Amino acid sequence: MKFDIITIFPKIFDSYFNESIIKRAQKRKLIKINIHNLRDYTLDKHKSVDDKPYGGGFGMVLMVEPIYKAVQYIKRKSKVKKNKVILLSAKGKKFNQKMAQRFSKLDQIIIISGRYEGVDERVAKYIADEEISIGDYILTGGELPAMIVVDAVSRLIPGTITKGSLEEESFVKNDKYKEYPHYTRPENIVINNKKRQVPKVLLSGNHQKIKAWQKKLTRIFG
Ligand code: SAM
Repeated sequence: MKFDIITIFPKIFDSYFNESIIKRAQKRKLIKINIHNLRDYTLDKHKSVDDKPYGGGFGMVLMVEPIYKAVQYIKRKSKVKKNKVILLSAKGKKFNQKMAQRFSKLDQIIIISGRYEGVDERVAKYIADEEISIGDYILTGGELPAMIVVDAVSRLIPGTITKGSLEEESFVKNDKYKEYPHYTRPENIVINNKKRQVPKVLLSGNHQKIKAWQKKLTRIFG
């Protein structure tokens, strides 16, 4: 699975993608993440990526031309069968586990991170296949949302993490499903002057009873 992220702040991704599971998945070639600096696709000597909005208004808008050039270049280079271009946008469709599962079946996702006041609407209309929001709040840019999409999709790629741990996770069966609680050592701890213990059943060694307890505490809403 390939992820190609278009951004004006490529360095933002250095730390997160070079740690833990995502780092290991890249090393094992289960995923490939390419970061593209939008400024490399600009048409003028100043490497302009943004301009004032037509009709007036606040802030600057990312221009359609460099984004179009970047997407065309990435598509031409990768030659995969199943890919999607995703524009990150607060007004897009809400990202969820079902969407992550659907994306994990693709060969490539090209992700466009917006900045400033947003992106020329022609990107959403004519270049992106889907416009996606990670929640009902406004961030300064699409880089954090891009990391979220890459993370959520990557862990569903076979081999990235232990299969068993995926099977019982929250949202895996449907969007109302929440996994049972987890405990680890120590068995006893004092928190705010009160002794807090691990539920006895988990220490019983009785697997049937443990399964029943976990089932009881698995929450299905709706
Ligand atoms: N003016 C825009 C609006 O009111 O919807 C907000 C622009 S925001 C400051 C700049 C960029 O951050 C957006 O183009 C988008 O790429 C990204 N962004 C901000 N919030 C987001 C969210 N909740 N989900 C996905 N992307 C988001």
